[in-house]
Amino acid sequence: MHCNVCLTEIEKPIYAANSNQSLTSLCELRDGQVNVWSCPVCSHLRSEAFADTVAYYESDYKILLSDEEEDQIYEVKEGEIVYRTDHQITTLLNKLNLPAGATVLDYGCAKASTLKKLSGVRTDLNIHLFDVSSMYKEYWNKFVSADKCAIHTTPESWASNFDVLTSFFALEHIPEPIDTVKKVHALLKDDGVFYGIVPDTFGNVADFVVIDHVNHFTAPSLAYLLDSAGFRDIQIDDVAHRGALVFTARKGTQSSAALNVAETITRSEELARYWEAVNQRISHTSQAYAGVAKAIYGSGFYGAYIASAMNDFDSVTCFLDASPFQQGKELFSKPILSPQSLPEDVKVLYVGLNPSIARAVMDEMRWLQERDVSLVFLDEQLA
Ligand SMILES: [Zn+2]
Repeated sequence: MHCNVCLTEIEKPIYAANSNQSLTSLCELRDGQVNVWSCPVCSHLRSEAFADTVAYYESDYKILLSDEEEDQIYEVKEGEIVYRTDHQITTLLNKLNLPAGATVLDYGCAKASTLKKLSGVRTDLNIHLFDVSSMYKEYWNKFVSADKCAIHTTPESWASNFDVLTSFFALEHIPEPIDTVKKVHALLKDDGVFYGIVPDTFGNVADFVVIDHVNHFTAPSLAYLLDSAGFRDIQIDDVAHRGALVFTARKGTQSSAALNVAETITRSEELARYWEAVNQRISHTSQAYAGVAKAIYGSGFYGAYIASAMNDFDSVTCFLDASPFQQGKELFSKPILSPQSLPEDVKVLYVGLNPSIARAVMDEMRWLQERDVSLVFLDEQLA
């Protein structure tokens, strides 16, 4: 396997899942085992692209397509919900000095929700859109004319045409990011700026094990990628957007950045051991409680992850979720119930919540303490 940022050959993965099914970032189950390789030269983390990547993004990757106004919650601040799209606009406007009438291309834009909202705030911007799928057209047509949209390839007239290229959570999906970043470089005017966001696997550990994120950029590997494509003034911020790296880079003569990768490589190894311990915890619990009815608390990423990693998912009766929006739905053909509807015969409850909050949430549930149920936390030390 080679590093898809610096092309160094990497001998063996630092992480191999023990389940033959994996989760995507949209919490769908796919066949295939997640392996992660860590590059000794640039500290990039990569996994394998699944065989049908092109078809997957053409038609299967349906992020928030069900409802036009659907958005993810970024945080609740003083009782007010801040949506991810709004936070992305605030961050972008803080980081970029966008001149009046600037030409902007959202590269790999999907529904282009961020640029759509931005176009309402900054009506002067000359917005263009590009993606590798045609399924978002109806969303684009609502705010950008067809001559400013491109699918699969960009027209020749777009070369050296843009002041800013944006990329929101796209590069992590792309098996050949070197190619993409070179294309971005060619589309920018001299001095134009590439602005983007990718997940930060150290800030959001779930990113490490989702099968559709073929890249887990580290700050050094992202800098390496941008530098080698001919960008300078590379800034990478791991604070502005929780669980993500926000970067800006200017097209211009390159100046090689010095890389310090030792600390990053150590952190990657720790993350690999963390997920190995989680997998072991799930499989040991299956064995210890063979034949006992089980349930999973949480129907988001962590709950779905437990389901994907269990080898006795048949023994799971239901998921529990405190969110009224989840209750009444199904996940992997099992019902999602309110926590208090936990069936009497369930004796083992896996806690499928972000480990940083899992114990506090379960401690709040006094009713559960009167039930004869063993709780399984993902980060529990193995005996
Ligand atoms: Zn590398």
